[in-house]
Amino acid sequence: MVLRLSKLFLRTLREDPADAEVASHRLLVRAGYIRRAAPGIYTWLPLGLSVLRKVEQIIREEMAAIGAQEVHFPALLPKEPYEATNRWTEYGEGLFRLKDRKGGDYLLAPTHEEMFTLLVKDLYSSYKDLPLSIYQIQNKYRDEARPRAGLLRGREFIMKDSYSFDVDDAGLEASYNAHRAAYLKIFERLGLEVIPVTATAGAMGGSRSEEFLHPTDIGEDTFVRSAGGYTANVEAVTTVVPAEIDFTNAPAAEIRDTPNTPTIDTLVAASNELVPRSEADGPWTAADTLKNVVLAVTLPTGERQIVVLGVPGDRGVDLKRVEANIGAYLPVAGEIAVEAAGEEDLARNPLIVRGYLGPGMSLGAPLLGLEGAAKLLYLVDPRVVNGTAWVTGANMAGKHVFGLVAGRDFTWDGVIECTEVRAGDEAPDGSGPLETARGIEMGHIFQLGRKYAEALELKVLDQNGKQVVVTMGSYGVGVTRAVAALAESNHDAKGLVWPRSVAPADVHVVAVGRGEEIFAAAEQLALDLEGAGLEVIYDDRPKVSPGVKFGDAELVGVPTILAVGRGLVDGVVEIKDRRSGEAENVAVDKAVDYVVNAVRSN
Ligand code: ATP
Ligand code: MG
Repeated sequence: MVLRLSKLFLRTLREDPADAEVASHRLLVRAGYIRRAAPGIYTWLPLGLSVLRKVEQIIREEMAAIGAQEVHFPALLPKEPYEATNRWTEYGEGLFRLKDRKGGDYLLAPTHEEMFTLLVKDLYSSYKDLPLSIYQIQNKYRDEARPRAGLLRGREFIMKDSYSFDVDDAGLEASYNAHRAAYLKIFERLGLEVIPVTATAGAMGGSRSEEFLHPTDIGEDTFVRSAGGYTANVEAVTTVVPAEIDFTNAPAAEIRDTPNTPTIDTLVAASNELVPRSEADGPWTAADTLKNVVLAVTLPTGERQIVVLGVPGDRGVDLKRVEANIGAYLPVAGEIAVEAAGEEDLARNPLIVRGYLGPGMSLGAPLLGLEGAAKLLYLVDPRVVNGTAWVTGANMAGKHVFGLVAGRDFTWDGVIECTEVRAGDEAPDGSGPLETARGIEMGHIFQLGRKYAEALELKVLDQNGKQVVVTMGSYGVGVTRAVAALAESNHDAKGLVWPRSVAPADVHVVAVGRGEEIFAAAEQLALDLEGAGLEVIYDDRPKVSPGVKFGDAELVGVPTILAVGRGLVDGVVEIKDRRSGEAENVAVDKAVDYVVNAVRSN
């Protein structure tokens, strides 16, 4: 069917929507693809749906190619399965919860591990039934703290989520690798550059996990790569740990007056003045200091917990890295929020001496971790290894301790990857210095292992007739996010510039001028193009100026624009490539072939 602009449910806008921060959001709204219904919630218009369906189709084909079968779950789900895995609590405020008329608890699913696990448990019972991969393309609901950038971070969004079920680890590895390969194909076919990076599993649990990041400055994720091929989300980067140092002969720690030194800079300056080091050792630097940063963690239960991080003074704390890695030390798993401790948090912990906080066990001062003092969770950066000596707070205003030796004078509750990763840091696998870049997470694959199967008792009989817990993988692609990322990476000042793979049509025919013969010829070409198997948009609006029509064609972003106008008296039409901007006059009777070739050739 030719989409006629005189009838198409479409209004393009001249003005950018006021709330749009990024180009994809601005243009998808202006070009009539989506409309905002509520924050982070969007309505799809015909052109938008057309692109969305194409993205979905590519995903379906690649899922079919690895033998994954499509199913469809409800989005409205009962609480019980999510209680069994504790995610009813773990998801915290991110979950849309609701009650039915009888008072029963329901949720709008943020992801479906539980339901898939239960479905397989319902129907399968033998190793002979496995391996199995099933998936759906479906709305997900997450009450994101910061819905942002239109479709990029919505509160309702479409995800393709697959789940694999295997009887053993080798099977899981194979299912995971099949999905990984399928994902690379999907993004290649979409024309969306992605880099697979090592990721943390986060709230999902499980072991091996990778994200597919689309590199762009507007991305919310930071990732690193080395010349030698190491790639990781910054959350998952591991620090190159220095060797432990023998401290048998290390001098005793000493407390010194260091008035007015609540910051690292003032401390370094004062140290060099008051406690100068030998020429051989060189002056004190921020890297010699141990900075103790007080953070407040909001648990999924809403409770707030104080955590103190001990990090080298020359490194900032990266809150996203803390969020990604602190889970193991918290009393409950799940979605958490980490921020600098506020006035109230500090007021509740009067033993925290602001600006002069330090760890320690044996210095006769009320140091952190000392009996009698409030016991706070104390975690350190991996660079704090046994034998390293530090300048750090003495827990008394205006005093610092010098030569406080890790493992001798203080200990910690655990080690955490929590400081910023910098360009130039060494890759953990020795493959060279790291560069950092930003990206959007387009997909995420996890080896879940047996966590969900165990919680929900998904077992099958193995070859020996023994009950074994099934091992699972979970694999997500952001479908609506892919539409936005494609728009983001394919636009110019005039509008969208879709790749052929997902464009809402193959060709946009524009009748320019008033003559009846122009409209008749354009109409015929539109029908012939359609007859040749192409998807056609035809701007047949009778009283719209050429400027507006061309403007709309460029805004809508179909890859080929065919204009029927003045040239018709000479028997030619103008065919323009929206991407290169190149235009050519082509004889009317060659126009269909020309466009068909253009469509086929890319
Ligand atoms: P993010 O870190 O961006 O919040 P996530 O890690 O929570 O994403 P997953 O649970 O791994 O997301 O979901 C799988 C995929 O779903 C993601 O890779 C992403 O493409 C997409 N996705 C997740 N959250 C959203 C959202 N709020 N809006 C649109 N797409 C999303
Ligand atoms: Mg993810």
